[in-house]
Amino acid sequence: MPSLLALLVALASSTDAPRVHSISDISQEFTFYMDGRFHTQYLKGVGRDERNWGSLARLDLSNANLLVLSEGDPHVPYSEASMERVLAFAKDGGTVLLMADGRDPMPPGAELAKRFGATLSTVKAAKPLTLVGASADVEYRGGSVLELGPEWTVVVEDAQKQPVLARRALEKGTVLLGSRGLFGHQPDAKDPINAAWVTPLLVEYATKKAIDPQKPFTGAFAEHAREVGPLTLEFTDGTQRFADSIANEYTAVRPHLVALTGVEPSAGMIKKLLILPTGGGGFSSGERIAIAAWWGGYPEHRYPMVELIAHEAGHSWVLPQPEPLWNEPIATYLGIRVGMRLEMKEAKETLERQLAAGRKHDPDYTKVDPLAENAPRDLVWGKSYFVFEELERLHGPGALAKYFTTKRKLVAKERSGYSMDDCVAVWSRAVEKDLFPWFRSLAFRVDAGRTELDDVGR
Ligand SMILES: [Zn+2]
Repeated sequence: MPSLLALLVALASSTDAPRVHSISDISQEFTFYMDGRFHTQYLKGVGRDERNWGSLARLDLSNANLLVLSEGDPHVPYSEASMERVLAFAKDGGTVLLMADGRDPMPPGAELAKRFGATLSTVKAAKPLTLVGASADVEYRGGSVLELGPEWTVVVEDAQKQPVLARRALEKGTVLLGSRGLFGHQPDAKDPINAAWVTPLLVEYATKKAIDPQKPFTGAFAEHAREVGPLTLEFTDGTQRFADSIANEYTAVRPHLVALTGVEPSAGMIKKLLILPTGGGGFSSGERIAIAAWWGGYPEHRYPMVELIAHEAGHSWVLPQPEPLWNEPIATYLGIRVGMRLEMKEAKETLERQLAAGRKHDPDYTKVDPLAENAPRDLVWGKSYFVFEELERLHGPGALAKYFTTKRKLVAKERSGYSMDDCVAVWSRAVEKDLFPWFRSLAFRVDAGRTELDDVGR
């Protein structure tokens, strides 16, 4: 948590007369790179950036002078209304940067490029690239060349003199269209390639439209919300069709989570579930969980989505006292068990694959301390699954439900911290047997003397 002073200092420097108000779009395709890193790499000292999570067609661009777009994902085509909004912004004086490469099949950005009067091609750009009329170096990660009409001015060309980045005027504004490979992409913002000429280029055209730093400048969030049980689903026009079926999956998954855990989600753990326009890479921040709309090839492949939803929702059953060590494994284990209850064969395969991966480090799961700092990830996950499976075999049926029911009764919401000792004590009381020796036989360094929750069976 930053101090108030640090926040004020950060605010002061960020409002220091920005000349560029950029909006980075993550509604057509979410990437961590577009979620702020583009701005960090190319516009940090000259402007403010906001993100567009909502449908482009609904975006207020009145106090923005630069719109940064990517080629998008085929799951979410640029809608007609969105393309109209982008064109209107440019014609009104704004600058649009579209980073896109042609391929087979073409990305959605190809359609937008067409509206700008350009065609993405599948012809690979040949190195070295040159900045036309200047001597700056051009670093390039690869991509394709453009097919352009006479209204375009080439900014960067390849070794065959084919355009890779170009600009054109569109009434009062400017369109910049170029290969994605000319720009960075690392989520840690450590690759500001070509910033020496990209930044001045963006500033030169964006600032042709004046912005007012005193007036509100905001991005937009996903514009639709719908209550689904304890979750609020948040989505856009483009992700709506995924939201509907993901809501159905959640409805199917929920009773199995209740059956597996023996309890309802923890009180106050109503989460927001944002449908992210991507196939991979979700996140969880406070009350909101974001999941990838076409995760694991959804909706053609259901199991990965069922596992993911059960995983993310499973955290709401575990909180507010997360399990040490297996906070993540237990969430996925719940997903696997839900999948098995739904008779999805991939569930058992996932379980067995992870158990086998863990055994490579600890063949009978009795040697390696999973709480050790250098414990391999596969060992931690495999041993966690092994423990859950064994507890069910030895103390089931419904061992996990006994545990969660007991935990809910014994562990106060206000409690600060929940150690492995606490966890084993709760398990012991749940199955009415002292499990400390058993956990120690599996190389867990646990000690009943370190928890006040232990007072039975000894
Ligand atoms: Zn998780």
